[in-house]
Amino acid sequence: MIDAADNTISGLDDGPSYNPRERCCAWCYGPALKKCPNCPRPFCSRECQIQDWKKTGGSHKMWCGKSGEKCVDYEIRDAGSEKGLGLFAMRDFSRGEKILVERAVITRRPIGPPIQEAMEDPNVAKAVMALAGVGLHEKFVTNCVALGGHEEADAGSGLFVHFSRVNHDCIGNSAHYYDPKIGLEILVASHDITAGLEITFSYVGGDDTEERAMKLSLRGFTCTCLACQTLDVASKLDRMIQLDRNIMVLGSNGHIDESLRAGKALLELYVEFQSSDMMYSRTYYDLFQLAITKRKTLKQGGFFIQKAYEHGLLFYGREENDSVRKYKKYVLNPSSHRNYRVID
Ligand SMILES: [Zn+2]
Ligand SMILES: [Zn+2]
Ligand SMILES: [Zn+2]
Repeated sequence: MIDAADNTISGLDDGPSYNPRERCCAWCYGPALKKCPNCPRPFCSRECQIQDWKKTGGSHKMWCGKSGEKCVDYEIRDAGSEKGLGLFAMRDFSRGEKILVERAVITRRPIGPPIQEAMEDPNVAKAVMALAGVGLHEKFVTNCVALGGHEEADAGSGLFVHFSRVNHDCIGNSAHYYDPKIGLEILVASHDITAGLEITFSYVGGDDTEERAMKLSLRGFTCTCLACQTLDVASKLDRMIQLDRNIMVLGSNGHIDESLRAGKALLELYVEFQSSDMMYSRTYYDLFQLAITKRKTLKQGGFFIQKAYEHGLLFYGREENDSVRKYKKYVLNPSSHRNYRVID
């Protein structure tokens, strides 16, 4: 039970303790004894298998055979003295592949289980207690993942048993998003990742070097990635952040040509950094929204929205995804967008 005074949990001594390196039930994080008949996903019991198949937050029905599994496709192991444990590829992943699909066990928003309810499950409680940090509050702050990636900054944050093991890297080789309809966080390879490599993403993707260092230090990290050690790389990353911010500012002030030029420069940097298809689709969508405000760039707008749709489909992997659906709608009917030629 949770002791509110010191944020600790008692009464968890029964049964084997949770070991992050080992296989465990995909639903309750207890010992795994069985597996899905169609993929390597492990379960402790038929009850958990059924919950995971059907439930919002489980939805294995949608992901069976389409995402990686712990101890089969990826493993959790030591990432070096500074970093503690990390997530590593056990096989090659291609760009766009889903590495990990998981529900949050605790969230800070009403969209998922709050702390008390989550910790009533002894297996979940053991898995949560195995995360880094002293006390539940510190565990949450150290290990929480922003729900929604960088697209919806205010979507809250969640604590995950496996997902929270992914370490930060200012460039990273994966990206993630939260799908509120199915209650799952989805980790997607943004680079081709070879077996043995650590899988990382940026915890603070929308921030420049100074902001990143400040936010990471609040979580107790000092980053030593390539960008943090190489001035040239860091300044390119900063330029990406700046261009991204400038596109909409320039556009909303009527400087469409300048904003489209900024967009082109940003897309070139995406190529250099192998940014995720989510970033491409977002930027192409921004450019679409600007291009359709002028008669002379309407045609370009059609190109931009087509690219937003193509990259969105590569990243999200499903036509049913809300972003993909939105892009498709404007591919088919660009004039239904409220910006369409309003300034001319
Ligand atoms: Zn189970
Ligand atoms: Zn399966
Ligand atoms: Zn860094």
